[in-house]
Amino acid sequence: MKIAVIGCTHAGTAAIVNTAKLYPEAQITVYERNDNISFLSCGIALYVGGVVKDPEGLFYSSPQQLADLGVTTKMLHEVTSVDTQTKTLHVRNLETKEEFTDTYDKLIMTTGSWPIIPKLEGIELDNILLSKNYNHSNTIIEKAKSAKRITVVGAGYIGIELVEAFQMSGKEVTLIDSMDRILNKYLDEQFTDRIEDSLQQRGIKLALGQTVNRFEGQDGKVAKIITSNGEYETDLVILCIGFRPNTELLKGQVDMLPNGAIIVNDYMQTSQPDIYAAGDSCAIHYNPTGKHAYIPLATNAVRMGTLIARNIMEPTIPYMGTQGTSGIKIYEQNIAGTGLTETAAKDEGMAVEAVTIEDSYRPEFMPTAEKVLLKVVYERESRRIVGAQLMSKVDLTQSMNTLSVCIQNRMTVDQLAFVDFFFQPHYNKPWNFLNTAGLQALPAVKRQEAVVL
Ligand SMILES: Cc1cc2nc3c(=O)[nH]c(=O)nc-3n(C[C@H](O)[C@H](O)[C@H](O)COP(=O)(O)OP(=O)(O)OC[C@H]3O[C@@H](n4cnc5c(N)ncnc54)[C@H](O)[C@@H]3O)c2cc1C
Repeated sequence: MKIAVIGCTHAGTAAIVNTAKLYPEAQITVYERNDNISFLSCGIALYVGGVVKDPEGLFYSSPQQLADLGVTTKMLHEVTSVDTQTKTLHVRNLETKEEFTDTYDKLIMTTGSWPIIPKLEGIELDNILLSKNYNHSNTIIEKAKSAKRITVVGAGYIGIELVEAFQMSGKEVTLIDSMDRILNKYLDEQFTDRIEDSLQQRGIKLALGQTVNRFEGQDGKVAKIITSNGEYETDLVILCIGFRPNTELLKGQVDMLPNGAIIVNDYMQTSQPDIYAAGDSCAIHYNPTGKHAYIPLATNAVRMGTLIARNIMEPTIPYMGTQGTSGIKIYEQNIAGTGLTETAAKDEGMAVEAVTIEDSYRPEFMPTAEKVLLKVVYERESRRIVGAQLMSKVDLTQSMNTLSVCIQNRMTVDQLAFVDFFFQPHYNKPWNFLNTAGLQALPAVKRQEAVVL
């Protein structure tokens, strides 16, 4: 069995390592156009901010490790086309410029995503950078050394992590986003208002609700950003406005969402049965809505990659879908979310309600008892939980994994009120804050009955 793999970061590495272990007789060749594999982009802000000192720790595999499993890794090789009829790949060696073809019995498409680069005047100026891979992170570190004023465009997770890192390194930081709130896809206003305050208190300039119109330069380098609302002088710009799936190779050959994300079935199979796909190149099944969605996360990538290995010879383990659970630490706040925000659910046309509580996470008699802010979003009629968000100075983020399981299993907010959680004063109260949110959401009539009983 000849298996070809295109792309070797998280989804590719997971698919390759597991396939090689399960099927040692398979002849696996992976093509990777970059000069490294398995880079953990999630460490970029920590590396840029100097928290991660040794970048070696940001890699967890190598061509040698894959060779030890019998896998052939072709680094600096770009696949330039795929013919799914003849099961042929066209490949270019980026060092020697040599071009050749290869064939496959099964193809694993783990080509991931690439940052969106807007077509704006001045975009080609020096010092407008991306933040996706290892080479990008090194360029950011190098260029940031001489930059006094740094502007990040895009207030998603990646942008926020970078503004924090730059502010802590003593830079003058501006954050621009076309939406009027930061992290608007992940958190509702109760949360983002507080985070915005904390960024502003540290001197980070928030330029929200405005779109970048063009960049102006001096001596070939970016010097100013012109937005719909103003002008910002800057020495360095990092673009973090989102990602697009890298799927041109299969365009018109397999089913995709309008944004190019490949649609796979529960067994990671595309509409061409011998082609499997995983990670940022794919759409995922989003349990809160029951629809396909594009949520590029390393967690989805490693799960889907591993499932390719399990299902490539015959369908055995189906994918359970995802809630897009994610977390972030911003200064002293530990923040996490799962599923839909209230805003996103309403934008989807869902009739939802939400309960928000703020309480000490453990008894006030303890030496410290930090507050936790928790919001749970649920469907009005069915009362099914569809999303949750949490923020605290204490790390309580694992609770969002608990709620992810609740969403996965279609639990109601009423069940959340009475589900069994342990109590120990070091950790929580007799009513865990998750129970408390459920109790608070109980309809008035049920609350009365509970009192009578
Ligand atoms: C700054 C940053 C921070 C992040 N933080 C987190 C986090 O904290 N938690 C989380 O869950 N996720 C995080 N993510 C998202 C996560 O990194 C991605 O979801 C993950 O990298 C996807 O893995 P992938 O293997 O599907 O795709 P990619 O990482 O995009 O890798 C695709 C690979 O395919 C190769 N390739 C593409 N086309 C070709 C071709 N034609 N020929 C040969 N090779 C090709 C590319 O060179 C690349 O190596 C972060 C991302 C970034 C950028």
